Amino acid sequence: MDFDTITAIATALGEASISVVRVSGPSAAQVCERIVRTKSGKSVHFEGDRKVIYGQVVHPASSDVIDEGLILWMPGPHSYTAEDVVELQVHGGVQLVQNVLEAVLAAGARMAEPGEFTKRAFLNGRIDLSQAEAVMDLIRAKTDFAGKVALQQVKGRFRDEIRAMRKELIALQAHVEVTIDYPEHDVEDVACRQVLETGASLLQRIDKLIASANVGRILRDGIATAIVGRPNVGKSSLLNAMLRSDRAIVTDIPGTTRDVLEEYVNVHGIPLKLVDTAGIRETEDIVERIGVDKSRQSIEDAELVLVVLDGSVPPTAEDDAMIEDTKAVRRIFVVNKVDKGIDPAFETWLSNYSAAAVVQISAKEEMYITELENNIARVIQADVSIERDSTYMTNARQKNLLEVARTDLINAMDAADAGATLDLIAVALQSTYEELGLVIGEETGEDLLDEIFSRFCLGK
Ligand code: GDP
Ligand code: ZN
Repeated sequence: MDFDTITAIATALGEASISVVRVSGPSAAQVCERIVRTKSGKSVHFEGDRKVIYGQVVHPASSDVIDEGLILWMPGPHSYTAEDVVELQVHGGVQLVQNVLEAVLAAGARMAEPGEFTKRAFLNGRIDLSQAEAVMDLIRAKTDFAGKVALQQVKGRFRDEIRAMRKELIALQAHVEVTIDYPEHDVEDVACRQVLETGASLLQRIDKLIASANVGRILRDGIATAIVGRPNVGKSSLLNAMLRSDRAIVTDIPGTTRDVLEEYVNVHGIPLKLVDTAGIRETEDIVERIGVDKSRQSIEDAELVLVVLDGSVPPTAEDDAMIEDTKAVRRIFVVNKVDKGIDPAFETWLSNYSAAAVVQISAKEEMYITELENNIARVIQADVSIERDSTYMTNARQKNLLEVARTDLINAMDAADAGATLDLIAVALQSTYEELGLVIGEETGEDLLDEIFSRFCLGK
């Protein structure tokens, strides 16, 4: 395939002290030779083996020195994209990096689209589609565990499983096709039996992958967890206490802590997306009615609800309402303010709910937060009851394709069971094979590629 030379800033803007401008494509060397000089101002040639030089980046027109830093030359095919790649590691300032990028563009490269580097890696055969998608998941991974799962995919476990299944399908199909050419009756029966047998085992494997989709989603998006309770019971304090007890937090929403309604915490390696429902009411200047509706909505959307109660005072009608509102959802009663002691009337009232999971904490003093987390982990265990080293699938696109493949496979088996013609069976097997190929991008249309890679961050 013929590609042009692309460039983008490959590191998050403003975050690092070093920023990387990546250049990839057949003329990466020529482009960069126009803008890279040695420290003493001599020109540089990018050829032969990989190398690193310490040099200057200059503007191609004015020759003004923009910045200096490490310049990496990584000739294809042993680079991220499998093309010739030059990486300019310059200082982190936003403006400087922009200037370097502009110099690269002025020297003849084109601005990369989001995900285009990874797309090239895929198109050049360096990685398969599931690996490419895993790279994206890795970028967005919210916890170590989620990161590890994504990493496994980068390493291709998922792809290997799909490939193994496709191999069995080909063998099965070959068996059927051969039998079509030699249509004696008993041979046909053998072929049909084989379709049923192999089909059943493949179906199991597909089902296992489909089942792991939910796990993949949880690891990627977090378990939606609503914190509810009447005003002043300590919801915001609880959210903050959980955030503080946790080092591995990734914040998705910019803004000061006060405004944050949604945060991620890592509970035993499982990301929770915590939503302070009352925050909706407290921080936004909107009609109370809407606030209550929103709160209801987030309870409906929640996979887990933390019902916060103030244990230091007698319960109120609002507490009863909260308990009523959340009874259809999986919930934990969080009895807060135990540092102030438990009110006897509260204790009697709570004993009506003896079956519920109850944890006593003090959000303000940050006491028993670990106990709460242990409890949460127990409750959500079933959602993520996965062998941590098994093969996962992590996105909806793959899940949908697997479901189509599953239907085709069942069609093939039904046809075999009903004694249908072998041609019919062969067609269904062929579609199963193709659908599985689509999952890992081994049969794929240009539209699909664009759609997938456009979801990447710029510079990846
Ligand atoms: P929210 O309205 O439910 O979000 O409640 P806040 O988290 O804003 O807390 C309301 C008040 O209760 C604040 O003054 C907190 O300092 C206080 N508070 C929260 N948790 C505790 C606790 O565990 N013990 C005590 N003594 N006070 C708490
Ligand atoms: Zn609050």
